[in-house]
Amino acid sequence: MRTSYAVGVDVGGTRIAAGLVERKGRIVKDNKTLTPKAGPFAVVDAVIELVEEVSAGVHSSEIAGIGIGLPAQIDFLRQSIEFCTNLPLAGVDVRALVMSRIRHQVTLDNDGNLAAFGEYRYGAAKGARDFAMITLGTGVGGGLFVNGEPYRGSRGLGGEVGHMVVQMDGPPCPCGGTGHIESYLGRAALAVEGQKAAAAHRGRQILEEAGGEVSAITAEHVVLASHKGDEAATAILMNAGLVLGRALVGIVNVLNPKLIVVGGGIGEACPFIVERAAQAIAEEALAGRRDVQVIPAELGNDAGLLGAAALAFDEHDSREGLHR
Ligand SMILES: [Zn+2]
Repeated sequence: MRTSYAVGVDVGGTRIAAGLVERKGRIVKDNKTLTPKAGPFAVVDAVIELVEEVSAGVHSSEIAGIGIGLPAQIDFLRQSIEFCTNLPLAGVDVRALVMSRIRHQVTLDNDGNLAAFGEYRYGAAKGARDFAMITLGTGVGGGLFVNGEPYRGSRGLGGEVGHMVVQMDGPPCPCGGTGHIESYLGRAALAVEGQKAAAAHRGRQILEEAGGEVSAITAEHVVLASHKGDEAATAILMNAGLVLGRALVGIVNVLNPKLIVVGGGIGEACPFIVERAAQAIAEEALAGRRDVQVIPAELGNDAGLLGAAALAFDEHDSREGLHR
C-alpha cells in the first residue's frame, strides 16, 4: 500500500523533535521536548509520547513507519546502538522498546546520516548523487552519499566526517581521539579559542558578548563578535574554515563529490567558515575536482527529522516492493 505519511524523530543531547511528514517533505504537525536526563527509558518514553502526539488522528494504515535519528554510532544492519557519548543509550534496544508500544516499523540511524538524507530528499542536495554533508554544531557530524545512496560502510558506521584526522597529535577530540575536525570546529573548541584570544587581550567584542567573563565565552559569543566586526573572532572562524577546507580536500580527492553541504547551528550562522573552506578546496584539491560546490544546508533544524521520515518511507517502500 502507498502510505501518505511517515513520522521522523530527531533525538539530540538537549531536545527531541518529532514530526508527521508527507511524502513531499511537508511537515504537517510537529512537536518537541527537552531530552530527559533520567536514563534511557525516560528517553524512549519521551520519543513514544511525541510520536503519539504528532500522529494522533491519522489512521495507522496511512503511516509508512517511524525513523529515529540518534546522536550515536549505530550498526545499521543490526539496528543496534554501539556508542553514544551524550545519552545513556549504548546497548539499549531502542527499536524494540518503541515497537513494543507503537504498532509501526521503526528504523534507527545516525543523526548526521539523516541530516544528509533530509538534504538529499528535500533540501540543498536534491538531485546530487554524490555529496558530503557536514554539520557544525556541538559536535561535528556528517554523512556521505555515493551514487544516490547513503554510504554506510561495512557495519553501517561510516560517514563520520567530523572525526577525520587533520593534525597528528593535535588537540583532544571528545570522541577520545586527537586532532580530528571536531577538535577544531566543535563548539567547545571554538569557545577555547575565543577564551584564549580574550585572555591575551585580543577580541574585545568576544569578551563583551560574554559579559566580561573570559570563562563564560562560548562559540556563539565568537560568532556574534565576528558579525560585529571583531578581528580576533573573525580570525578564529577563518582558521576553522581553513582547517575544515583542508580536511575536506581529502574527501574531494577520494570521492569527487558534486557538492559539500554545510549545516548545523554553527555552520548556518557562519558563512565565513563555509567560504574559507570552499577557497581552501579550490586551491588544493586535485585537478578536475575543484568545481565541487560548497553550499549551506537548506533545512536548518528540520534536516534530521525530515531525513528520518525519508528513511521511514524508503524502508516501507522496500518492504512492500515499491520502487521510487
Ligand atoms: Zn573525534
